Amino acid sequence: MKDDNVLDIAKRRGFFWPSFEIYGSVGGFYTYGPLGALLKLRIEQMIRNHYVNNEGCLLIEAPLLSPEDPWVASGHVESFTDMTIECGKCGEPYRADHLLEEKTKKSTEGMSLTMIKGLIKKNDVRCPRCGGPLENVYDYNLMFKTFIGPGKNKIAADLRPETAQTTYMPFRRLFELGRKKLPLGVIQFGKSFRNEISPRQGLVRLREFSQAEAQFFLDPENKRKHSKFDLVKRKRLSVLTKHDQVRNKPGNALEASGLVRKKLTSEWIAYFLAVSVKLFEDMGIDGSRLRCRQHKDDERSFYSSDTWDVEYMSDSYGKIELVGIADRTDYDLKRHQEFSKQSMEVNIEGRRFVPHVVEIAYGIDRPVYSVIESCLRHDGDRTYFSFPPTVSPYQVAVFPLVKKDGLPKKAREIQKTLLDAGFYALYDEGFIGRLYYRQDEAGTPFCITYDYDSKKDNSVTIRKRDDQKQIRVRIKDIVNVIGDIISGRVKFEKAGKLLK
Ligand SMILES: [Zn+2]
Repeated sequence: MKDDNVLDIAKRRGFFWPSFEIYGSVGGFYTYGPLGALLKLRIEQMIRNHYVNNEGCLLIEAPLLSPEDPWVASGHVESFTDMTIECGKCGEPYRADHLLEEKTKKSTEGMSLTMIKGLIKKNDVRCPRCGGPLENVYDYNLMFKTFIGPGKNKIAADLRPETAQTTYMPFRRLFELGRKKLPLGVIQFGKSFRNEISPRQGLVRLREFSQAEAQFFLDPENKRKHSKFDLVKRKRLSVLTKHDQVRNKPGNALEASGLVRKKLTSEWIAYFLAVSVKLFEDMGIDGSRLRCRQHKDDERSFYSSDTWDVEYMSDSYGKIELVGIADRTDYDLKRHQEFSKQSMEVNIEGRRFVPHVVEIAYGIDRPVYSVIESCLRHDGDRTYFSFPPTVSPYQVAVFPLVKKDGLPKKAREIQKTLLDAGFYALYDEGFIGRLYYRQDEAGTPFCITYDYDSKKDNSVTIRKRDDQKQIRVRIKDIVNVIGDIISGRVKFEKAGKLLK
């Protein structure tokens, strides 16, 4: 079965598929299969390793379900809404502003409910599904509501729409644990929920999704400079500023330092734009499709002083926001201070103030999709995923040439040696061509075969996924060689005897 579509391959090979399939599925829910769950785990590991090891962030994990109070304070109860309109005939709900934009090809940014309602009528926008009349425009809150506990004393509750607020609430405790110093970085990984109106974009728009959100608490008097900015200042970025967008300009390629020098953004935001683009490229996402886009004044949240997204230009879904980087000022902590009556002030050298926050909010499902799309390769009859060994579900697969004469036992011993050394190693057996085909579609960068000669020369063949070159390597060197070629320390062709 040959199929060129990335979604079909992802489904067939078990990266991900729509959830609840046997009951007809519900939009916005996906299940990660054996390969996808591993790929997602590796992508999360990359982000976690960077933020915990290199940025010194504290890692925390808060509940997904919470009483409503924090979401009143954060503004989500009041304004975490989408303008919704329903078909009077078939009942299908739509995003009112999106439908209008599709019809008029004009932005609805900043328009009120009444204006949208009027324009839908004036432009005779009708139900795309059945042509029926559209009526009843209203603000629809995207939080999933439930209750904690039974009876009269049950508590109104919500599934969290983001992790950020659950990091702000324990700020005082985190500040103490961080030895009362700023800047203080905290990162949280986990699920969040948005009851989207009618999601039809696979992993790109989910009702239950995974996030990694880092919050840096800063001293507002001392937030201009980032101490490690020199490490990224030469990183080239494709940049679209708010001014470019207003003037309909295509944007520029700039070094991170240029963003700061031209006063387009702060060192903190430029630093994390560069860090994020580098992380995405290291995951295998096509760097030429990544763009740093600044939010325009009319799309940015009112409390944020500056917001940027890194976007990926996807074949299937158009532009996808992979991470949002925002200076949220002291808005969130001040709101929690006001609503909880608990002080969020810190005291640093006699100055009392509420810290500012720079937030770096990664989706995880979108990078997973973008890696899969970016890494799909067609080479003649062959289809493979060119995942870098840092994210590939498996780094190496081990096969016996045949399923007899003691070869499987020896191949399993090699797999065990590699697993013990910390590599993600898989064992498989069958017809060798079929085994390679399977690993190509799983994106496994290296395959090791134990054959009849292996018994005599104590060596095995390693095959490289991308160009199918093969080298012969002694079994006692296998752990070092695999380490060298996975890290790129040694070129594959030089890591053993190249076979012609
Ligand atoms: Zn309809």
